[in-house]
Amino acid sequence: MIMRIHLSRPHMSGHEEARVAEAFASNYIAPLGPQLEAFEACVRDYLGDQDLHCVGLSSGSAALHLALRIAGVGPGDEVWISSMTFAGGIFPVSYMGATPRFFDLDPASWTLDTALLSQELAKAAAENRLPKAIVPTDLYGQSVDLDALEILAAQYDVRLILDSAESFGAAYKAGRKAGTGGDAAILSFNGNKIITTSGGGMLVTRHGNWADQAGFLATQARDPAPHYEHSTYGYNYRLSNICAAIGLGQMNVLDARVARRREIFARYEAALARPGVAFMPEPEGLRSTRWLTALTIDPDRTGVSREDIRLMLLERQIESRPLWKPMHMQPLYAGAVYHGTGVDERLFTNGLCLPSGSDMTDSEQDEVIALISALLDQRTQD
Ligand SMILES: *Cc1c(COP(=O)(O)O)cnc(C)c1O
Repeated sequence: MIMRIHLSRPHMSGHEEARVAEAFASNYIAPLGPQLEAFEACVRDYLGDQDLHCVGLSSGSAALHLALRIAGVGPGDEVWISSMTFAGGIFPVSYMGATPRFFDLDPASWTLDTALLSQELAKAAAENRLPKAIVPTDLYGQSVDLDALEILAAQYDVRLILDSAESFGAAYKAGRKAGTGGDAAILSFNGNKIITTSGGGMLVTRHGNWADQAGFLATQARDPAPHYEHSTYGYNYRLSNICAAIGLGQMNVLDARVARRREIFARYEAALARPGVAFMPEPEGLRSTRWLTALTIDPDRTGVSREDIRLMLLERQIESRPLWKPMHMQPLYAGAVYHGTGVDERLFTNGLCLPSGSDMTDSEQDEVIALISALLDQRTQD
């Protein structure tokens, strides 16, 4: 079905074509080139920490794959991960032949429950079965609790890789940006994210040797030699210079895009909040990108299910979507260990993401709001 109003789609600023034209004029059409270097430097400057290294890659999933490989994750290792996440944030664990162990969310933030994680790390340490890496997700643009996670990772000497695919432009306390934590963070510039390179991602790391390894592995692991010499296998994972040029144009508007998504969230919240309708919380001091406006609808209190709303919108060619289905509920990961009380399961049952693209107009959003309000009002009266 052709949608009139999308969940989230690419939103160009008008700056991109000139940057792409520069790349064409210099014939840097290959994966490596000056636009890629400039894009990596621009992201590092934005993140505001000159100790960070940024490696542009073909996707966020590729960035996670490389991070896990560099962290030494392999068969027999466990990776502890937020269950409520997108496929691209977990499949690389499977690429490495490692075993995921899934964790529930904290209802106060909808991000990984660090108290639960702490308990399980203590048990695992006592039984000498610590994970190789922890991969928490910045859900719908909200940073995880970086302080707590970095302390735990250091205490147990476990690698920490942040999935910041949805949170580029978000802040964690005192202005520290999402995407700056742990041993590494991954960003995504897929077409539906805050900014896009049409497809792309980035590995952000404090470790110079991780960045070097990522660059090496992402370009087919070529050892220094005039011929092709390989002592290990690599991947073709570099971000194309042309795509990086699009990213350079998009960097001009990153903060504006986040501001607009936050505005869209605030308008929905002001118009739709009522008993039985709850919006994703934002803990004090954190600033989410509000990548997608996520809310829950309690059918017992509103008389309306999230499917009632989704299908009613779909009839009018308006796209909305249930929250991520937790990975421990997926057939692929049947039998995997899950720690939690089902906070994420209930969010999945009752949760919906509303159209949140930064290019959505106020009148389009007003239409979505009016349709949902009418359905809620009608059922309340019944
Ligand atoms: C988008 C996304 C990814 C993967 O990024 P791609 O660039 O699409 O490979 C990973 N994790 C999460 C949470 C995402 O939303």
